[in-house]
Amino acid sequence: MVICCWISMAEADSFKYKDPKQPIGVRIKDLMKRMTLEEKIGQMTQIDRKVASREDINKYLIGSVLSGGGSVPAKKATPKTWVDMVNDFQKGALSTRLGIPLVYGIDAVHGHNNVYKATIFPHNVDINRDPILAKKIGAATALEVRATGIQYAFAPCIAVCRDPRWGRCFESYSEDPKIVKLMTEIIPGLQGEIPAGSRKGVPFLGGQDKIAACAKHYAGDGGTHLGTNEGNTIIDAKGFFRIHMPAYYDAVIKGVSTIMTSYSSWNGLKMHANRFLVTDFLKNTLKFKGFVISDWQGIDRITTPEHANYTYSIIAGMNTGIDMFMVPYNYTEFIDGLTYLVKNRFISMSRVDDAVKRILRVKFTMGLFENPLADYSMTKYLGSQEHRDLAREAVRKTLVLLKNGNSLEKPLLPLPRKASKILVAGSHADNLGYQCGGWTIEWQGLSGDITDGTTILSAVKKSVDPKTEVIYSENPSTNFVKSNKFDYAIVVVGERPYAETFGDSMNLTIPEPGPSTITNVCGSVKCVVVLISGRPVVIQPYLKTIDALVAAWLPGTEGQGVTDVLFGDYGFTGKLARTWFKSVDQLPMNVGDPHYDPLYPFGFGLTTEPKKN
Ligand code: BGC
Repeated sequence: MVICCWISMAEADSFKYKDPKQPIGVRIKDLMKRMTLEEKIGQMTQIDRKVASREDINKYLIGSVLSGGGSVPAKKATPKTWVDMVNDFQKGALSTRLGIPLVYGIDAVHGHNNVYKATIFPHNVDINRDPILAKKIGAATALEVRATGIQYAFAPCIAVCRDPRWGRCFESYSEDPKIVKLMTEIIPGLQGEIPAGSRKGVPFLGGQDKIAACAKHYAGDGGTHLGTNEGNTIIDAKGFFRIHMPAYYDAVIKGVSTIMTSYSSWNGLKMHANRFLVTDFLKNTLKFKGFVISDWQGIDRITTPEHANYTYSIIAGMNTGIDMFMVPYNYTEFIDGLTYLVKNRFISMSRVDDAVKRILRVKFTMGLFENPLADYSMTKYLGSQEHRDLAREAVRKTLVLLKNGNSLEKPLLPLPRKASKILVAGSHADNLGYQCGGWTIEWQGLSGDITDGTTILSAVKKSVDPKTEVIYSENPSTNFVKSNKFDYAIVVVGERPYAETFGDSMNLTIPEPGPSTITNVCGSVKCVVVLISGRPVVIQPYLKTIDALVAAWLPGTEGQGVTDVLFGDYGFTGKLARTWFKSVDQLPMNVGDPHYDPLYPFGFGLTTEPKKN
């Protein structure tokens, strides 16, 4: 009897970390004391799905897998394919000695954008000043991500883009820190609303229909010199803390689970090596208790390619306070290197323990130990009508009307639905890929019919009176426009998709044939130009010929949001969350600058009344 009870108590005790009734602190402590160095280092390792296998996850005790931009199981993979893949990897983790589940991360930065048929929401550049909308988008994104069995998104990007030459400006909500701070409300959308009275900085997840979020890129990514991606943000501490940090305070208060370090530097020091900002400030002062993750091969870039020194990179990353290392391909080098460094006391065991405790805290908070495997019950959420309606609403709310006729003329917008013949022109009018921008299906984005959605041309066709003839020509000549008698034209032009690095631009011009389409059409017929772009672009030279101008940013799959407003079902209400420059030599130019001389100032946006039908 005694023997029996003594054994059963010990047994119960040995599974404390598996017992959801135990407080998370107790579970962490229990699990930590059982873990070997190899198991701990495995938890700190995140690898890309392309090189991951169930066997290797098991062998190397891997703690996390990711889909780096466009790293998908198959081009048109169904949610079921995703669920099966994630579960397969998970089984590799669950069959290890301690059965610690892995967490799968993905860049769901405007909806579940890597996934075929998902709802593609407008990029952050579109969304501003409406925290409730941001929260709803977060909640919908969480459901779509969960529909594929994934529990973690590398979002939101809370960069404060101070220079539109930066090719990631479209991932930033605004040049204004106050607006970016406001938009951290997407975090409770993704993760759930943190209960009142929660301890500051502790990660939170509200249920199995929510996902862990990641505020990125910490910090100052949007302030680099000339807007260079991964560049150097040159600014004193006062300016840095005023502009680039406030959104992080809010993210931490809202219980963000993870924070990703930035490739960029602050005054010459790489953020992946900035111990002051990561450990002293974020962890010790702000009391952030989630985990810090490095960016994709971010520690490799602490050193220059000419002086690559991976050992140094690991030491620097660890001493900075990074907890999980995104080492997508060369993970065995990382594991071996870190193991050697800890065994030889170049890196302290307490630093490893700090990292692992944080990772485990997030995993316990997420309920991963109780629900490691996904089923298919949530696949219905992917691209659901409800989410598409929300995305459409977001598009409507975020279009900015920059011009609507000259002051003496009658405004062109809203457009009449009834006309005899109208022209739709421009490279972006019937191109879903262009409408969605970078980070859609592929890392750098794509052209054409890439997923389910409505192009602006199809939306126009659906919106006009059935008797109105809609003629589409991608780049019509002046003669063509003149020889047809159009009542008016809708010209949709802009930037082609891009993402990090490839999107940096020194001239910010609209690529041809955009400008010639504007000139050919608008010189011959009344026209509204709908600009598809991830940032303000050079527009002043064409303004005279343009009757009405709409900044539609990167609206995503729901093109009907654009026509809802063009045809007056809804009024224009959007306001610029960034400054529209006259010419690029004015850059950087932000609201509040002493020599502020914009084409359209921060906060600008004309309004229209909805039409009464
Ligand atoms: C980007 C991150 C992204 C990561 C994973 C990096 O190149 O900078 O924003 O989360 O890749 O795809």
